[in-house]
Amino acid sequence: ATPTAVMAAIGCATKRGVLVREGDALERLAEIDRAAFDKTGTLTTGEPTLCGVKSLSSAYTESDILRLAAIAEKPSSHPLGRAIIRGLKDAERAQLPNPNDFKMESGSGVSARIEGRAVAVGRLSWLKRIGAVGIEEAQSAAAVFEAEGATTVFIALDGTVAGFMALSDAMRPGIANVMRNLEKQNVSPMLMTGDHKEAAEHVAKEAGIDERFVDAGCMPEDKLRRLESLERATIRTAMVGDGINDAPALKRAWVGIAMGGIGSDFAVNAADIVLVRDDIRVIPWLVRLSRRMMRMIR
Ligand code: ADP
Ligand code: MG
Repeated sequence: ATPTAVMAAIGCATKRGVLVREGDALERLAEIDRAAFDKTGTLTTGEPTLCGVKSLSSAYTESDILRLAAIAEKPSSHPLGRAIIRGLKDAERAQLPNPNDFKMESGSGVSARIEGRAVAVGRLSWLKRIGAVGIEEAQSAAAVFEAEGATTVFIALDGTVAGFMALSDAMRPGIANVMRNLEKQNVSPMLMTGDHKEAAEHVAKEAGIDERFVDAGCMPEDKLRRLESLERATIRTAMVGDGINDAPALKRAWVGIAMGGIGSDFAVNAADIVLVRDDIRVIPWLVRLSRRMMRMIR
């Protein structure tokens, strides 16, 4: 390999806010057949807004539900947790107490003790797994919001699902162009998300990602396993993600690309390439750059 071509390409990339952390990352990027994108925080801005709160229990008002969820999420850095807190009125947010026994379950939710109650906030499949009751009722109450593409976050109070919050997250600009541009270079885009199927399909449709290439409801290990099976099939896959939940998959991918701005240090440290400005519009350009670089080396 002629290091000059590689150095020149890395220099070009740096100017556009792309940090190349691994020496051979661009060589590998030139060879990809597939690009797997995380949804929340990667294809979307990761700054969702609260668009609805519902109580499923006569013992709690909607504002009780929101307040308890916000307390549980107070120590959390997850975009959904932060959005729930932003959904409070200013006065309430200013004096939000800290929860006790806070625990975070990556890709699932958070739990804590608040005012004597056991509180868990997160995805419904996780609440079910930890033994909460009222799952079916909650699922049918949330269906109308999910059909609109909203992300739903459920709250269990002392083991019963007592309500949920609906959040909507705007797409980053230019996503459909990114996907079209990758396809032109024979790279098929896919979507991998921890969110539910309806939210995933809503985003895939807007992005122009084929519905056969949509993986919803993924736990962090599911993303990893998916990358492993692509590897076994010798489908060279770049994974693009932002969160701690993406870190195992970023590490395993043929090339791992992390969002650098809002993303977690875990994602950045697991990645070969970091998009310092959180701008995924550079990815097709970067693939083209890396392929041109390889032609110069050969
Ligand atoms: P994505 O793969 O879309 O980036 P994550 O893997 O971070 O999403 O989360 C997957 C799902 O787990 C979310 O859609 C949400 O339902 C739930 N979840 C994870 N962390 C939290 C949290 N702190 N608060 C509420 N829900 C959470
Ligand atoms: Mg994410």
